[in-house]
Amino acid sequence: MRRPVIAGNWKMYKNPGEAAGFLHDLATLVTESTHAEIVVCPPFIDVPAAVDAARDSNIEIGAQDLFWLKEGAYTGEVSAPMLVAAGCRWVIVGHSERRHYFGETDESVFKKAAAALEAGLTPIVCVGERLEEREAGLTENVLATQCAGGICGLTPEQFARVVIAYEPVWAIGTGRTATPEMAGQAHHFLREQIRSRFGNEHADACRILYGGSVKPDNVKSLMAQPDLDGALVGGASLDPASFAAIVNF
Ligand code: PEP
Repeated sequence: MRRPVIAGNWKMYKNPGEAAGFLHDLATLVTESTHAEIVVCPPFIDVPAAVDAARDSNIEIGAQDLFWLKEGAYTGEVSAPMLVAAGCRWVIVGHSERRHYFGETDESVFKKAAAALEAGLTPIVCVGERLEEREAGLTENVLATQCAGGICGLTPEQFARVVIAYEPVWAIGTGRTATPEMAGQAHHFLREQIRSRFGNEHADACRILYGGSVKPDNVKSLMAQPDLDGALVGGASLDPASFAAIVNF
């Protein structure tokens, strides 16, 4: 039985005061929600305020990125041990916006995931095809390549603690969601990739989240697919009521 994860990715929205207010509000809306792990990933600058506000709740805090080295002369970067010390338990790795705007590659995704695991963070590793790749019938090739260059380089022991997010790039922030069947097919393909690399036990245990315009009114039909184990939510995670409605799908 895979316990769902509902994770919110705030991207570059909200300041520390707004983060604290949001988490107090969300905490009151999800006190009974024990069926899922609830994660909020604010901007780095909000992490201390978010950790503090979520302290006595069932909400955990994650970051949206990290650098793979522990410390050094890397201006602007934040390491996995720093995130742990600040109270993060999770970190998003390889989000398509990082791949697109900041040059993230499968190789950097692999290094970041390994660094996160070594520090005790749970990485949410994002994969997904662009619109032109889907239209060219290349979705499975793209997913296979991203898996091979990223998570498949981990050891089975490392992989056991990874969460994957399938996020078709054309569905992120566009209001255009994959149909439950499209998402289900991609998740099934990803699980088979994991099976061939890591074996049945790891494939059956791995949580694969869907991300791309998840909203309170479409989450239920997406989660009805057998290979969908939760959601990575952008826009709809910015409002406590809509994020709580997704958590309580
Ligand atoms: C995301 O940022 O990971 C995401 C899925 O965004 P949205 O829900 O807004 O499409």
